[in-house]
Formats: sequence, C-alpha cells, structure tokens
Amino acid sequence: MSIIIAGGGIGGLIAALALHDRGIAVTVHEQVGAVKPLGVGINLLPHAVRVLASLGLADRLAASAVRTQELIYFNKLGQLIWREPRGLDAGYDYPQLSIHRGILQTLLLEEAQRRLGPERVRLGERFVDARETGDGKVEARFAGRDGAPATAAQGDLLIGADGIHSAVRATFYPDEGAPIWNGRVLWRAITESFPPFLTGRTMIMAGHQDQKFVCYPLTAEAGQPARINWIAELSLDRSKGWRREDWNRTARIEDIAPRFADWRFDWLDIPALMAGAETIYEYPLVDRDPLERWTFGRITLLGDAAHPMYPIGSNGASQAILDAEALAEAVARDGATPAALAAYEAVRRPPTSAIVLANRGNGPEQVMQLAEQRAPGGFADVHDVISREELEGIAARYKQVAGFSRDTVNRRSA
Ligand SMILES: Cc1cc2nc3c(=O)[nH]c(=O)nc-3n(C[C@H](O)[C@H](O)[C@H](O)COP(=O)(O)OP(=O)(O)OC[C@H]3O[C@@H](n4cnc5c(N)ncnc54)[C@H](O)[C@@H]3O)c2cc1C
Repeated sequence: MSIIIAGGGIGGLIAALALHDRGIAVTVHEQVGAVKPLGVGINLLPHAVRVLASLGLADRLAASAVRTQELIYFNKLGQLIWREPRGLDAGYDYPQLSIHRGILQTLLLEEAQRRLGPERVRLGERFVDARETGDGKVEARFAGRDGAPATAAQGDLLIGADGIHSAVRATFYPDEGAPIWNGRVLWRAITESFPPFLTGRTMIMAGHQDQKFVCYPLTAEAGQPARINWIAELSLDRSKGWRREDWNRTARIEDIAPRFADWRFDWLDIPALMAGAETIYEYPLVDRDPLERWTFGRITLLGDAAHPMYPIGSNGASQAILDAEALAEAVARDGATPAALAAYEAVRRPPTSAIVLANRGNGPEQVMQLAEQRAPGGFADVHDVISREELEGIAARYKQVAGFSRDTVNRRSA
C-alpha cells in the first residue's frame, strides 16, 4: 500500500511520519523547492505534543521550545481578567510548547527525509489534479518548478494537506472562492532580545476582539533576554476589503504601533516590545465555512486544507497534528481504503468544524470581550463584572470543544 500526500507543511509532514511509523509507505510532494524556516511563533497544545511524543519527537522539540507555564488574559488597561496554568504546570502529562514555526517545520522535514528517505520527500512539486484510475488506485499530477512538465504519482490514497489555499480541496469545491475575512488583521513579529516578563514562560493576551495584543516567549534561559513572539490585532472597516492572505507579506511598524502607544503596563511595556521587532508580517484573520464532506473515494483533506480556522486558542497546528494521527490510525486499521478515509473523517470532521465555529465566537478569548462590553472603563476586581463561574465555564468549555481537557489528554497517554 502507498499513500500520496500533497503538501509538506506541519500537517503533511506529521501525517507522513505517523503513517511511516505504522509501516505504511508514503510520499510527500511539497510545492516549494527549498523549505525556508518561515513564520513566527506557533503553539502546540498538550494533546498535539502527545502525538509528537508518540513519534519520538518531543524531546528534540522541547529543546527548541518554551514549556508554557501559564496563560493570562488582561483587559486593554492591563487589568487581570483570567489566569490559568498550562501544560505540565496544569497537571497534563505533556507540556504546551511555544516554538518558532520555522524551527518546527525544519525539524519535521529533516526527520521525514531521514526516516522516509529523501526520495519520498519530494520538494518543488506542486499538486495540479488527481483522478481515480479504476483499479483501486489514485493518480495525482504534480507540476515541477520553472514550468517543468507535470509528473504523475500513483498510490492507494491521496491526502490533501496543502494548506489554506488547498488545490486538492478546490478540485471538489471549485466554486468556493477565497477564504472569508472577518475584518480583523494580525500584525505578527518576533522581538529577538527583550527582558523576560512575568514568569518568563507566560503567554499573555490583552484587549478585546477589536484591538488585541498577544505575546509569549520562544526562549526562556535564566538571566538572559528572551526571544518574544507578538501579535497585534485590529478590526478594520470590512467594506474596504483587504489584501489576499499571504504568510510572508511584510508591514511597517508605523502601520500598527501608534494604536498601542499607551499600552505600557507594570507587567510589560508593549510599545517597547513592538519597537524591538525587525520584520513585521501582516495577515488577515480568515477562515472557511466547515465542509459537509472531506472525503471523495480515495482522496481526503487534512489540516488547514480541511478546516482552516482563526488562530485563536492555539489550535491551527495542533488540530492538523491530531488529524495526522487519526488518519494514520485509520489506515493502519482498515488498510489504504476509502473506508479508512471515511472513518478518519468521521472522527475528525465534527470536532474541527466545532472549533472553527467556536473560534468565530472568540473561543476562550471571549472573556476579554465580556470584560470590554461590561466594563469598558476598567474594574477594580474582575469578579465585579464577570463571575468566577462564568470565567471558569468559558475556559473549560473551550478545552472540551478543542479536545484538550486534562482528563481527555491524560487518559489517552495512560
Ligand atoms: C509559510 C507559512 C508560514 C506560516 N506561519 C504561521 C505562523 O507564524 N503562525 C501560525 O500560527 N501559523 C502559521 N502558518 C500556518 C500553520 O502552519 C498552519 O495553520 C497549521 O500548521 C496547519 O498546518 P497545515 O500543514 O495544514 O498547513 P501549512 O502549514 O500551511 O502547510 C501547507 C503546505 O502545503 C504546501 N502547498 C500549498 N499548495 C500546494 C500544492 N498545490 N502542492 C503541493 N504543496 C502545496 C505549502 O507550501 C505548505 O508547505 C504558516 C503557514 C505557512 C505555509
């Protein structure tokens, strides 16, 4: 049996490693000719780290990541709304990891090349189209770089792991059009050297849905300045439209810094942090409507190709990783068959659709929105405006929806 994967991003590479780990032959076709360590920070939740640990990757990853200790939500005045421990500090068997996406991608690519063999990780091959050949096989065509002619690959199954602009998805949903923009734009950056804040392993979010600041460290060495990932987010006039989403489009600090000029808190000087970034990337907050169906015979979707979601609640990469594991388990159990893909979809489509919708309602960040609506001028004590039960309920419900309540994760690892 052999599996073709279109797309060598986070989801595609982990799917390849998980299938290979179960003795299934797999080939990845990635459109870029040389994978560069692109992106800024990304978070891996404990349930995704469990999958990486099962593939023998957790220690190497942890060496390049920060074990997130706590998550704190503040209002726009820097007043505390909600604080919770995360990962190991919250009693999970696995940490939450904050890591540079480029480091993660490079590590996964190296591991895939080493374990599968370089001929099974084919760079510079862009998925064009696919068809079932009628003999229980699927044939996919890939275009080479610089106009090189298309090559064909034959396998038992094709997995579309080709990201938010998935060409595999477009073959089944040709009229779907561009991802849906909700009027918000993210400015993402890394400040390479900045004094650690709070515990040194704290992730913070401040503000509300129309103006928000998120940051977390990507390094945490005692007595050393930290490498800090940050995201500033604003709601803009939707009717004016925005440029197409591109992970690598740069922006100017003047576009965004003035809006946060007075966000100097005793726990963090946000303007100073922003001023320290060399390159800032802009990205519109986009997603797509959940699909009724991912699987068509011997072809299915995975990761952002299947369920692009707002990067709220640290779920984008984590859910792609869970998809990868579920796919590999289904194929190992049911063979490289349409039934395996249907079983994979049955496990993964309902929860990921629910997360897409939960993230449209701000996910766990809804506590910030409630604080803004109920007390735009601030509060002496958050419990004067949001009860402890309401805060706890929002946090717990989202963990259930996203599949990372502590009991669920620890049961799986037992
Ligand atoms: C360059 C880049 C930077 C990113 N930066 C961040 C970030 O800083 N923070 C964050 O939270 N998320 C970031 N993401 C998104 C994040 O990686 C995904 O949301 C998440 O990891 C889900 O993974 P995925 O494998 O489904 O998608 P992706 O990680 O987006 O991977 C999709 C892969 O498919 C490839 N591909 C696309 N079309 C084709 C085709 N036709 N044929 C073959 N291959 C194709 C792409 O080149 C890419 O490698 C970034 C994605 C990319 C591609």
